[in-house]
Amino acid sequence: MPKKTKPEPTVFIVFGGTGDLNARKITPALFNLYLDGWLPDEFAIIGTGRTEFTDEQFRKNLLGGVDQFSRKGKADKKIWQEFSSHIFYQVADVNNAKAYDKFADRIEQHKKDWEKDPCVVHYLAVAPRFFSVIAENVAKSKLADYLPTTRIVVEKPFGRDLESAKELNALLQSIFDESQIYRIDHYLGKETVQNILAFRFANAMFEPIWNRNYIDNVQISVSEQLGMEGRGSYYDTAGALRDMVQNHLFQLLCLVAMEPPVSYEADEVRNRRVDVVNALRRIRPEEIGEYAVRGQYGAGWIEGEKVESYHHEEDVPKDSSQNTYAALKLFVENWRWNGVPFYLRTGKRMNEKKSVITIQFKPVPHQSFPAQTAANWQPNRLIIEIYPCVGIRLEFQAKRPGPEMLLSPVDMQFNYDEFDAADTPEAYETLLLDIMEGDSTLFMRADQVEAAWRVLMPIVDAWDDTPATDFPNYESGSWGPAEADALIAKAGHSWASAPGID
Ligand code: NAP
Repeated sequence: MPKKTKPEPTVFIVFGGTGDLNARKITPALFNLYLDGWLPDEFAIIGTGRTEFTDEQFRKNLLGGVDQFSRKGKADKKIWQEFSSHIFYQVADVNNAKAYDKFADRIEQHKKDWEKDPCVVHYLAVAPRFFSVIAENVAKSKLADYLPTTRIVVEKPFGRDLESAKELNALLQSIFDESQIYRIDHYLGKETVQNILAFRFANAMFEPIWNRNYIDNVQISVSEQLGMEGRGSYYDTAGALRDMVQNHLFQLLCLVAMEPPVSYEADEVRNRRVDVVNALRRIRPEEIGEYAVRGQYGAGWIEGEKVESYHHEEDVPKDSSQNTYAALKLFVENWRWNGVPFYLRTGKRMNEKKSVITIQFKPVPHQSFPAQTAANWQPNRLIIEIYPCVGIRLEFQAKRPGPEMLLSPVDMQFNYDEFDAADTPEAYETLLLDIMEGDSTLFMRADQVEAAWRVLMPIVDAWDDTPATDFPNYESGSWGPAEADALIAKAGHSWASAPGID
């Protein structure tokens, strides 16, 4: 990974420029990069969609997004004026191949003005059904011809199964070189997530115990309180397994379980991540009940407010059998991890919005202290907190002050709040800068996406083919279905953030 420098002159085309992602994430991230001095002097952002907008109307809409969503708060008017003079709008239907000539003309104009071949980023912030047609039309209109400086960015979800992911990879790779394709999983851009690598590989003390000899189990839990929030029609085609596990939770698993990379070069780091996915135990269709639990939320209470069941969400069929919760037990079959369960869990409408990785260590081999000295005794845990707390916490036993030998669990904590939050870039800022600089370390390579689908396909197929008969099977505001507790209780484990345990 090269040291960060200002990118070369860039034309940044946002397909889906009028959509939610651009307003909520992309433009606020680009604006913050501008504020922090990371954008080149010569850059242009071209938003596109079917809606008719003038440049001014488009800029005004984006300012609304920045004011509402930027981590730096409302934009300073003068600085926004300067920044937004680089933003343009081009009305276009992505299905219309001729419309792409207008992008070509604009790129040509910038090239002339800047007297330089710009880096051109095609950012596909549109529904997945448009990914192929945009890539094809970009190629037809020769917009992919400036190969060394052209990049294509594909949002999640990347495919809805192994076959569709392979097809999309094949199409993209027939037009672009793999090094030009940036498959975004924004989890990889999060500070704490990147910090897992620093924590593991920049310190000598953790790596020697980071294996099956010392670690009992690993839990990766991403819970959300929100329901569909208007995304019901998309979500009902995906579900928790496709929407969260195949990408975000697998990325976290890879970072926890990967071998140390020889260097922090994109392909080396990505090779180590893919190794983890390739080492995951394949689950046979007849074993799915032992390894996976699905759920769907019923009505319930979230923070004192009554909420409806999934079936009552807008655009969700009343008889939908889509999962809004998934829990998996996985095994990484290699020397380091043999026999250590990795429990993954994610769900909507759960008790808390919380993302946390818990490394549960084994008990001490011999208990020297009498039982009454250690009433609350528990094995060590290392907790990597991603949301809402951002940091790393180590739980261990200590002697309570006083004349008696009494033990209590205590925490040693590193908290990201110690850094100024306004100085901590959002995931999209890190990732957009990486794209402009041509650094693909934090992006998914084709083989990783396909490997992840390959592991999950038996479960995807089984759940698609056999509608659940017990849905809804968890109350909104709970920690998910009881079967998920049973899934891990079989091995004597319990979820780390279950009520009362935290
Ligand atoms: P959205 O709000 O529904 O926006 C869709 C965009 O596509 C709009 O700009 C729309 O513009 C454009 N569009 C639709 N049909 C078009 C056509 N035929 N020609 C040209 N433009 C067309 O969706 P979104 O939430 O921004 O999501 C976009 C992508 O990002 C999806 O793949 C989603 O899964 C992914 N994503 C979104 C988020 C998020 O927070 N929103 C987070 C992660 C990933 P017009 O209506 O003006 O044509």
